[in-house]
Amino acid sequence: MRIARPGLRRFLLTATIFLVAVMSLSAQQKPDCTVRVTLLQVNDVYQFAPVDQGTRGGLARLLTLKKAIEKESPNTLFLLSGDTISPSVESITYKGAQMIDAWNLAQLDYSTLGNHEFDFGPDVLRQRMQESKFKWLAANVIDKKTGKPFGDTQPYAVREFEGVKVAIFGLTLEETKTTSRPGPDVEFLSPCETARKMVKEIHASGIKTVIALTHLSMSEDKEVARCSGVDVIIGGHEHTLLESSAGGAPIFKMTADARELGQIDLNISKNSGAVESIDWKIIPVTNKTREDPQFVVLNRKYGSLIKELSRVVGRSSVELDARSAAGRKQETNVGDLIADAFRVSTGADVALMNGGSIRADEIIAAGPLARRDILSILPFKNKVVKVEVSGKTLREALEHGVARSAEDAEPGRFPQVSGIRFTFDARRPPGSRIVDLSINGKPLDEKRMYTLAASDYVAIDGGDGYAMLKTARLLIPRERAQFDADVLQAAVVAKKVIAPKTDGRIKRLDQNQKPKSDCP
Ligand SMILES: [Zn+2]
Repeated sequence: MRIARPGLRRFLLTATIFLVAVMSLSAQQKPDCTVRVTLLQVNDVYQFAPVDQGTRGGLARLLTLKKAIEKESPNTLFLLSGDTISPSVESITYKGAQMIDAWNLAQLDYSTLGNHEFDFGPDVLRQRMQESKFKWLAANVIDKKTGKPFGDTQPYAVREFEGVKVAIFGLTLEETKTTSRPGPDVEFLSPCETARKMVKEIHASGIKTVIALTHLSMSEDKEVARCSGVDVIIGGHEHTLLESSAGGAPIFKMTADARELGQIDLNISKNSGAVESIDWKIIPVTNKTREDPQFVVLNRKYGSLIKELSRVVGRSSVELDARSAAGRKQETNVGDLIADAFRVSTGADVALMNGGSIRADEIIAAGPLARRDILSILPFKNKVVKVEVSGKTLREALEHGVARSAEDAEPGRFPQVSGIRFTFDARRPPGSRIVDLSINGKPLDEKRMYTLAASDYVAIDGGDGYAMLKTARLLIPRERAQFDADVLQAAVVAKKVIAPKTDGRIKRLDQNQKPKSDCP
């Protein structure tokens, strides 16, 4: 026994060491050595209310989903990949303040800047950023005056979960410089170079897990993934559901207006702090999810506007083609409808509408037309003015309108017309593309004077390059002119039921020509 005891003791000691060794080995392999950080993603959200006749989206539903997910996965970051302040019918009135209110309620953590965040200029954006309870991140958007990220934000943010640190930085499209209104003091740096610099800096600080919150095109996102070493890209801008991967990093984009919520789980090693694996699922946001009661406050605040926008003003018995690509390329029934309304309301001989000012960018289904539909087609609050031009200038204006039709897939200057019929051939050189032109059934007389209805943007400011109209004599000036949306609405109200059809007033001889490829 005495001998045996030390022997037994030795055996027990050996067994204990063995057991501890086994336990620590299994502990290393067990999943509790990883920390799960859940990223909740939406992007390009222009409305806080549900869309698609109430069936999809809605920030009140997002909050319900977020709270449910947090119960199961407490380390959660709620992310918006940009584009929310504009464009929307509500933003005509509130300049995006209604969305900031909604995101504050929805408990958003971070957003990057989308190109549309600059639509109302840098000062309005700064104001919106100050109202935000969440943080904005855009490492490549630099305020030239300070040399720092726009709006005094940090280049990147760091969050710690159960001892594991993750860093997150934002990136914005460089083209925002020309497609929106950031003004001369905002600079957009190369996304790839900025990402590389950010990742280097973050890794140098000892943090291994890096999230890029981006508002870029998919090809740029892939470039960022390949060039920088980020772990995951939470992206936006395309408005369609995309899941891709490049350079070992997955890239996610949801459909616009929160029709889905992306749930991306990063399983991060507690020992190394690096991402071991990623799981994800795409959760449809539908009317099966109840709305969080906290949103009652918001509905009360903006309820009267939403009610006003839902007011039915008439009906259309046909689909209305308000797609941007169509209105910038060819005659559309919406282009005809607007140009006819401009001409009739001003009593002008002819009307011209630049296709780029026709928005909505969708085919509006036949059925009731609400004030919201009218404003979504014409959201810019332009005035409908009347000027007097010579036949020569009118021809020049129309030539200008089709001068980019071969060179550019969707030129905003493309003319939608009324009282005018013309045939053009974009294979001919710019300036001589119109091969047939008549005004109210008669050939255009270059020496005659005609009255023309157009927006103040085109006829007074010479917008979209229509500089030849700037010197025309004003018959109805801005001060006495009506808003474009009101003119369109009056035309709908007058008819009660509209059925606009294209009538061949614009003919394109090179219709089947494909736009030039970008490939070398
Ligand atoms: Zn965008």
